[in-house]
Amino acid sequence: MSTDLVRLTQAADYAARQHIAQRRKGERAEPYINHLTEVAALLAEATDGNDIVLLMGGLLHDTLEDTDATYEDLQERFGPDVASLVAEVTDDKSLPKEERKRLQIEKTAGKSRRAKLLKIADKTSNLRSLVASPPAGWSRQRLSDYVVWAHDVVRSCRGLNPRLEAAFDAAHQEASRQFG
Ligand code: ZN
Repeated sequence: MSTDLVRLTQAADYAARQHIAQRRKGERAEPYINHLTEVAALLAEATDGNDIVLLMGGLLHDTLEDTDATYEDLQERFGPDVASLVAEVTDDKSLPKEERKRLQIEKTAGKSRRAKLLKIADKTSNLRSLVASPPAGWSRQRLSDYVVWAHDVVRSCRGLNPRLEAAFDAAHQEASRQFG
């Protein structure tokens, strides 16, 4: 019987391996795992580390979208709750980018509490990265559009966790100051 700490460590290890060759889009090209550990840390702090499924989901949230991991892999390794949480926050990559972005705004309201918390943490990390290390090829307009879009997605996730919302609002404020 694996303890929570063992499961969490296994999720971190699996995420690091799955994303091993990937880097963040910013000019610093940070290792992708930095994003995943930041998201998990935001979630841990906001929930006092009381929800192991949420933290594992934070570490694994981009595995279905950006790596060759399958739903079955996640289910087998980490259980059905973690697998379905990751599936809930995964975009349908067969759709065009703009459509996926529109759907994130539209569909997030109907998602589970955990999925909404994960969305807030994900967007918080992304906005922090945008400020710390903006992607080299992005125009000011594109940066500004992202900041507005992130705010629109998070709008339907509010009312669940004041601490996490405060972290998002701080990141959003900073990003708006830079690119708004
Ligand atoms: Zn992410």
